[in-house]
Amino acid sequence: MSLAFQALGFAAVRLTGAVLLGLLIGWPLGHLFAGVALVVAAYLVWQLIDLFRMDWWVQHRSFADPPDIGGAWGNVITQLVRLHRRKRFHKQRFIQLLRQIQRSTAALPDGVVILNGESEIVWFNRMAALLLNLRRPADLGLRVDNLVRQPEFVRYLSGGQYANPAVIRYGTGEALYLSLQIVPYGEGQRLLLVRDVSRQMRLEAMRKDFVANASHELRSPLTVISGYLETLSQDPAFESDLRHPLAEMRRQAERMTAIIRDLLELSRLEATDSEAQGEPIDVGALLQTLRQDVLTRPDRPREVRVRVDSDGYLIGNESEIHSAFFNLVDNAAKYTPAEGSIEMRWWVDADGGHFTVEDTGLGIQPEHIPRLTERFYRVDPGRSRSTGGSGLGLAIVRHVLQRHGAALDIQSTPGTGSVFGCHFPPSRVGRPAAAPEVRAVSR
Ligand code: ADP
Repeated sequence: MSLAFQALGFAAVRLTGAVLLGLLIGWPLGHLFAGVALVVAAYLVWQLIDLFRMDWWVQHRSFADPPDIGGAWGNVITQLVRLHRRKRFHKQRFIQLLRQIQRSTAALPDGVVILNGESEIVWFNRMAALLLNLRRPADLGLRVDNLVRQPEFVRYLSGGQYANPAVIRYGTGEALYLSLQIVPYGEGQRLLLVRDVSRQMRLEAMRKDFVANASHELRSPLTVISGYLETLSQDPAFESDLRHPLAEMRRQAERMTAIIRDLLELSRLEATDSEAQGEPIDVGALLQTLRQDVLTRPDRPREVRVRVDSDGYLIGNESEIHSAFFNLVDNAAKYTPAEGSIEMRWWVDADGGHFTVEDTGLGIQPEHIPRLTERFYRVDPGRSRSTGGSGLGLAIVRHVLQRHGAALDIQSTPGTGSVFGCHFPPSRVGRPAAAPEVRAVSR
């Protein structure tokens, strides 16, 4: 039998006892009903006293011992004591866990800031306070972009693209570079992870400087060597059995010159983080120039077409855009056999300006595509070297496009051909044509 039924039985026995006692008292006095009423009333008063004792204990249970009451009230008290103990046990475990989490996040070498759906600061650890100069409790509840006002971060926070962190220069004293990464979780809540990346940024800057300086220093001696090699190769008195090694030396010197030229170009692009300045570029004219360049190649594909479907011009840095488009067209020419074809296209639509180079060349296996824009990444190093490739062309393209807010898109089918597309945002397009029409098709 459950405790509740036991208590009910106990209460029923007590009540019956009280009624019998009332009858016993009322019988000799000749007032049965009054006797019963008196005893039942006394019983009720007793119950009420127990109820008040219990109520007092419930209100002061944190320090008072439970009253010693039997029956149903006693059961209620036992249940309450159990519940109270269980609650205290869970509360203590929860507090311990919370302390451990707080201690471990405080000891983290990275800053952690909890943001709510409105980007207001809910909590931050010691490292976040140190790195972002946050004060507790003054900054709790404030919007994080009111405290960290760097435009890169404000754009990153509102952009909703959190796959990569934003790197900002912070503080006024010695340059401090912070990597800020948003990690969304729960309903609209976000973690902001703050990391000091000043050391990596300094090393990266040193690496870039080193590459730029080394390339610069190598350029002059290489120019001299190339010059002498050219003079020697034109000298009729030069021994004929040395002509082949000399030609090879000239080829290698040309390759080194191309690598150094591309390294310097890459260093120059990397040195400027800002967006490229805007000047109107006549893409149609640029594509015609590129076409003429390809046509002068001895091993060029049979057909080189230019299709300009818009007179809208591109707004950007002309020499950078020329370099990027040249690299794409040069690759298409290099990796397409003589019987193949290349088509360059420019058009403008609501999404912006688009330049594509389509070839019917070798194509690229899908696993290589994500890595093509890495420096010195080549699908077939032997072929790339034999065609005079530096392995830096697509890295240059990526940097130029980044500086123009554009995206590179690569579609390729091995054995069939490739399409390299550069997609510029509408802000980079001037005077978009109302109705696109084919303005020029050259063969
Ligand atoms: P490279 O100077 O070697 O051409 P890039 O950075 O320009 O270096 O290109 C990287 C690699 O991508 C090349 O080595 C080549 O294997 C591949 N690639 C680039 N463009 C094409 C293309 N149009 N068709 C086939 N493969 C290409």
